[in-house]
Amino acid sequence: AKSVPEAPPRKSASVPPVGALNIPAVPTHVPYLIIGGGTAAFSAFRAIRANDPTATVLVVSEDSYNPYMRPPLTKELWFSDEPQKQGLRFKQLNGKERSIFFEHEEFYVDPKLLSSSENGGVAVLKNTRVTRLDPKEQRVTLQDGREIHYDRCLLATGASPRPLPVLESGGPELMKHVTLFRGVDSFKELDVALKTAKKVLVIGGGFLGSELACSLARQGLDSGLQVLQVYPEKGNLGRILPEYLSDWLTRKLRIVDGVRVYPERFVKGAKLVNGGITVQLNDDEEITADHIVVAVGVTPNTDLAAGAELEVDDILGGYRVNAELEARSNLWAAGDAASYFDVTLGRRRLEHHDHAVATGRTAGDNMAGKGKPFWHQSMFWSDIGPEVGFEGVGLIDSSLETVAVFARPDPAQAPNSAQVAADLKQLESLQKDNAGYSALSSPNPKDDYRRGVIFYLKDKIIVGVLLWNIFSHISLARKVIKDQKTFGDLGELAKLFALHDD
Ligand code: FAD
Ligand code: NAD
Ligand code: NAD
Repeated sequence: AKSVPEAPPRKSASVPPVGALNIPAVPTHVPYLIIGGGTAAFSAFRAIRANDPTATVLVVSEDSYNPYMRPPLTKELWFSDEPQKQGLRFKQLNGKERSIFFEHEEFYVDPKLLSSSENGGVAVLKNTRVTRLDPKEQRVTLQDGREIHYDRCLLATGASPRPLPVLESGGPELMKHVTLFRGVDSFKELDVALKTAKKVLVIGGGFLGSELACSLARQGLDSGLQVLQVYPEKGNLGRILPEYLSDWLTRKLRIVDGVRVYPERFVKGAKLVNGGITVQLNDDEEITADHIVVAVGVTPNTDLAAGAELEVDDILGGYRVNAELEARSNLWAAGDAASYFDVTLGRRRLEHHDHAVATGRTAGDNMAGKGKPFWHQSMFWSDIGPEVGFEGVGLIDSSLETVAVFARPDPAQAPNSAQVAADLKQLESLQKDNAGYSALSSPNPKDDYRRGVIFYLKDKIIVGVLLWNIFSHISLARKVIKDQKTFGDLGELAKLFALHDD
């Protein structure tokens, strides 16, 4: 009889004993396990410890850093002074300096000591990927084969930046000049590259690409760095903003910030030429840069679903969860990686900071036994230089019908007619010859979109509200969406957002 081939050794059996490899020992069983160490993870462990002060929480994170916030990586950090920048510290709006890390190092317990810690605590096992999840056995497998059992587990795996195959096919030497931007390592990599680069190309016209292009260009006004930006939409944030506003923003980026913008374009090819990169666009125009930043969207990290028989949303991506953010018994999902049911607006998946905080909190509460439904309308915000800050709530999608109400131009701030004429002349020459940017008094001298409210509508019902340079009114926006009413006069409604106040 044929002998049955020997089964390959189980991965765990081939792992040397802990200690031999200097691998930190980890508990084999934890009451609370969090997979992923980002914003949703942070918010969840804070909620767990608030409900259960002696809770023992293990975070397994592929990252080499403790949990940190990502928003300053495209904004404030680029304007920090050198020592603060290296220490990942930045100035907040209130003038106070802080680090991007949510907690001090001392807050965390060493993973080796977690099981014996009298008052529990939170440990982060860094540089470690969870490769398998078995919801029935309540067990995960780490990349080195070790297994951990859990009582309650949270999937907080976030999302990963999409690569650009057209650059990757340029080979490893070219890829040394390319940064796929997402976290601290990519921030540091870009910071180093820009010490010598004279020209940087940002690919992507969404949140990340637009915020970063603006910050780098403004920083470059001193250093002489030139910033180019390529994306397929008609204007910056074209999937978010109504066309005229996206157009206005694009002009602001060009004229005030000095970004050389290439809308309605995509990259067809790229090659290394004399140590720099020559990029071929779809219309065969060639542009050159010393470094490229890729910001063409993200894919939610749901690779644990397959082995775990978890449902992934086939339209939105993300682990499908119920109203309590549960994917299975004793297993929750939050943040970028979760597709959830919004009671007002239907099934959604959001990729924003506040949403990671809000869903992380509800998941953490529920892991500690609260059984709360997630009903919150998360907001998001973005800043594109000091002239433009906006906050949004609900469905903010430029393919929806929009109605916008902008504040009357402030006569004191309006440029005089001679200035407008001069600006228009300069704008024309800039459009002909894409060089020699300098600041104009107003992004588009003919329009004034300084402050406004944009309503996004579906069947006459307001499903989204964007507050353009208006702050602290997001709770009213939430109420408007929740009410699901039709409004006769949106101009009157807009006044409630203190549109005409200073
Ligand atoms: P993440 O923060 O991505 O965390 C996921 C973590 O899980 C990562 O550490 C990852 O390494 C780890 N992980 C993944 N898979 C595994 C695994 N199998 N095993 C172990 N670990 C794993 N939003 C805003 O609202 N406003 C902003 O201004 C803003 N600015 C941003 C700037 C940047 C540069 C970026 C990238 C995003 C920004 N966002 C902003 C979006 C916001 O940061 C994200 O929505 C948020 O970080 C999502 O949190 P999360 O915890 O779901 O995922
Ligand atoms: P999408 O975001 O769904 O694109 C999918 C992803 O596939 C992109 O993020 C990109 O990473 C990748 N990709 C697809 N084709 C590629 C190519 N030829 N080279 C490099 N990467 C490629 O698509 P979308 O954003 O909804 O499309 C919006 C518009 O932009 C469309 O008109 C589309 O044709 C155009 N577009 C062109 C390219 C391209 O050819 N480089 C890539 C994406 C989008
Ligand atoms: P995004 O989805 O906002 O935008 C992706 C952009 O890349 C779009 O303009 C798209 O058309 C473009 N694109 C796709 N394929 C392309 C291609 N082949 N060539 C050129 N352009 C292409 O994602 P992002 O801007 O990359 O941001 C990454 C993540 O970080 C997202 O989850 C985003 O929500 C988040 N983020 C949020 C904020 C904020 O909320 N203020 C800020 C930064 C980042």
